[in-house]
Amino acid sequence: MKTILLFLVFGMITQLADSQFSKTLFNSYDNYKFNEISSRRFKHAELIQHLGTIKKSLGDLVTIEQLGSSAENRSINLLSLGTGKTKIFLWSQMHGDEPTATMGLLDLLNYISKNKNSSEVKTILSETTLLIIPMLNPDGAERFQRRTSQGIDMNRDAVRLQTPEAKILKSTRDRFDPEIGFNLHDQDPRYSVGDKGTVAAISLLAPAYNVEKTDNVVRTRAKKVASELTLVLQQFVDNHIGKYDDAFEPRAFGDNIQKWGTSVVLIESGGWKDDNDKMFIRKLNCVGLLSVFHSIATKSYERTSTDVYENIPMNTKNLYDIIVEKATITFSDGRPSIVADIAINKEEVHDSTGAWWKGRVVDFGDLSVFSAHEKWNGIGKSIESSLIEMNDIVKIDEVKNIFHK
Ligand SMILES: [Zn+2]
Repeated sequence: MKTILLFLVFGMITQLADSQFSKTLFNSYDNYKFNEISSRRFKHAELIQHLGTIKKSLGDLVTIEQLGSSAENRSINLLSLGTGKTKIFLWSQMHGDEPTATMGLLDLLNYISKNKNSSEVKTILSETTLLIIPMLNPDGAERFQRRTSQGIDMNRDAVRLQTPEAKILKSTRDRFDPEIGFNLHDQDPRYSVGDKGTVAAISLLAPAYNVEKTDNVVRTRAKKVASELTLVLQQFVDNHIGKYDDAFEPRAFGDNIQKWGTSVVLIESGGWKDDNDKMFIRKLNCVGLLSVFHSIATKSYERTSTDVYENIPMNTKNLYDIIVEKATITFSDGRPSIVADIAINKEEVHDSTGAWWKGRVVDFGDLSVFSAHEKWNGIGKSIESSLIEMNDIVKIDEVKNIFHK
């Protein structure tokens, strides 16, 4: 009976067990915000400089290791902190124009350096090991674009692993086999929460690892972490937290990393009124992550009900006109060639000659999950990248002549 009661009391917690740490983090943010970054349009060179500053202030508490380089030879680095058994893996900005969480990571590193002797930081660093890759797509960040310099959406390259950046993410996950992971992105700041009409400041997802979207130990743990993060954030932005669509995406990193055994939570930084640079959302990332690190360190999140996550209101295409399948894309400047599918949609043009159709390249990479009115076989056929860049207008007949002989 006692066991049952205890289970009832402790088995289904839908309130935050300890709200003080997160409130203190929120209220004292200006004391530890990483002020060297005040605009979201920072590039790799600046990040490297900031990592030097962080290294100086954290000293032996952090090690920085270069994991490898982007296609254009910019370094991709791993920061490791802590000596604990529970490994927490975080990676940001795999989409180059999604820098909000990178800023939040610098804030939280700065918090740790300024509060090295606080009981919370000591608990976090003794019970967990933080493994952080800030800015996975430095070439994309250089251009402030989603895709890598090779035109690939890295979050659709988890299986084919054509890009050097995706290979780094995969090999790092495999090397450490972390228990918990945070996949850090930005979403369109115009997403809203359910039917509330409020802007989604943050959207969360515990990605599915299969089409059936079933739960296993790994995904259930991710849902508990997401529930805990929701409880933290609700204190500050109640009604501004959305749930991302959990349809299984077989090419995405979140879904695959969940499948590979690391409990993944996707955090999408959304929007906030009069905050184009997303500085408030940056703060939410920092406060939310530090709070959840502590809950993971104390294992208090394990008692949080997954209902909290399941009850978050939802925040959502898959037919193209033409897909050229598995074409070889060559780069005139020496970057390695890649195999990619090319999606082209037809757009009607009205001009003095009458109405006609032009094509626009609307997607590029692994498009195997999409259907199309026409599929053209690109296997064994090459096209120079500059001819089919994203959003380019293409002459449909010319492309057809290359691939449709
Ligand atoms: Zn993204």
